[in-house]
Amino acid sequence: MKKNVIVFLGLPASGKGTQSALIVDNFGYKSIATGNILREEVKKGSELGKKVAAIIDGGNLVSDELIFEILKKNLEDTNCKGFILDGFPRTLKQAEMLSKYLDENDGLELQKVFYIKLKSEIVFDRICNRISCKNCGATYNTSSNKTKVEGVCDKCGSTELIDRKDDLDTDAIKNRINIFESNIKDIVSFYEKKSLIFSIDGLKNIDTISHEIIGALNGN
Ligand code: ADP
Repeated sequence: MKKNVIVFLGLPASGKGTQSALIVDNFGYKSIATGNILREEVKKGSELGKKVAAIIDGGNLVSDELIFEILKKNLEDTNCKGFILDGFPRTLKQAEMLSKYLDENDGLELQKVFYIKLKSEIVFDRICNRISCKNCGATYNTSSNKTKVEGVCDKCGSTELIDRKDDLDTDAIKNRINIFESNIKDIVSFYEKKSLIFSIDGLKNIDTISHEIIGALNGN
């Protein structure tokens, strides 16, 4: 049986990570969050981590080829029912590379591309209020999506809730937003042609959005 692949598109802090976590819980899919994977490499101090640290801190994109190699390795996991791509593709070239890979790989099929739409002014505030768990990468918002117990990660219980370095630098945030906006139209029209896009109003609350996503995945 083929494994489904779901893509989440959206500005930084639009809710991709939050919704991915809900699908992981509901559908047994594995989330491949390329930003988390890169930050993990930086934390480990690996060769890859050293190569990408400054790029991430500046809010720039690592090369399409490098990120695609990382993605492919993660898509080889057989212990899951499907995959959620959170943070990939970020360029048209990445979307094309993924399509070619899926066309050549009988075991995987792109099921849906969810585009969580939000205005950049809103995400700017959200990014400034975002904290994430140093241990498992779960993200929270100090005003709109708090942890159940203050200072404790809901998912893994860690008390190390931190600001990401690239969330503290205003220029890096603006850069990430600008890069997103200069690439998103091409990516969306690429997937529109394949009738895979499902757009979501990112202003709706977390439960409403996940309800819409689960409905779309169940074919309602
Ligand atoms: P964001 O909050 O901006 O969505 P992510 O955690 O998804 O952050 O990504 C953090 C950083 O990792 C990006 O700013 C970029 O430097 C790098 N990155 C993640 N995914 C990709 C990708 N698909 N292509 C290139 N760079 C990526």
